[in-house]
Amino acid sequence: MARRKKIYEGKAKILYEGPEPGTLVQYFKDDATAFNAEKRDVIDGKGVLNNRLSEFFMVGLNSIGVPTHFLKRLNMREQLVRQCEIIPLEVIVRNFAAGTMAKRLGIEEGTPLPRPIVEYCYKDDKLGDPLVTEEHIAAFGWASQQDMDDILSLALRVNDFMSGLMYGVGIKLVDFKIEIGRFYDGDFQRLIVADEISPDSCRLWDIETGRKLDKDVFRRDLGNLADAYTEVARRLGVMPQNATPMEKPKLIN
Ligand code: 5GP
Repeated sequence: MARRKKIYEGKAKILYEGPEPGTLVQYFKDDATAFNAEKRDVIDGKGVLNNRLSEFFMVGLNSIGVPTHFLKRLNMREQLVRQCEIIPLEVIVRNFAAGTMAKRLGIEEGTPLPRPIVEYCYKDDKLGDPLVTEEHIAAFGWASQQDMDDILSLALRVNDFMSGLMYGVGIKLVDFKIEIGRFYDGDFQRLIVADEISPDSCRLWDIETGRKLDKDVFRRDLGNLADAYTEVARRLGVMPQNATPMEKPKLIN
């Protein structure tokens, strides 16, 4: 059997050439990294959970008319996605102060924000994804003014959808990051939600207890990451029967 052509390997995912032109296969790894890959580990089952969760969120977004790159899930770790040109920005939406914003502005983590705040970071690992303004984005030509209007609208629609979904299962959507891709539909360019939406890229706190159910569990050594992601999947009803992270087989003698 011919080997698949790898297009790109990131910290948590691999992209392979897809079966049809204009498609890619997105493979979810078990690798977890934080602080620009200074902290790393392999978390059994994380890739399976994120594949399922990202599918769940993207299918929901597609169904309410928010376009995403997701086409279909292929197996436990892979999904078929539309090939697109990733805009080199991390689009962050915040509902409560946390993480870098809490630190930068000296606001206590968990403080509700007067309205959702959207931030942009320039995607560059070597620079540590620095925060940029719309001035930088326009001046360096990363996105046009029309793109920025569309990106803001997509980001806020994703926030409304995700906040409501999470609230319904007792989880507060503190903040999240999305990536946006350009996709050419004949002569027209459309912007779509790409990459993944999962507990790797969101902050999710239990409403009652404040328990963290996201990648901060790994970043801040707060317990078992797969358990936290499994809890999110269980509450949303997307936990596949047989996908409970299994222990690796033990070798006998
Ligand atoms: P912060 O800027 O506070 O570190 O992150 C804000 C939100 O965006 C958090 O939900 C965080 O998980 C997400 N985020 C920011 N940068 C990255 C990144 O490089 N990778 C991932 N997976 N999520 C990120």
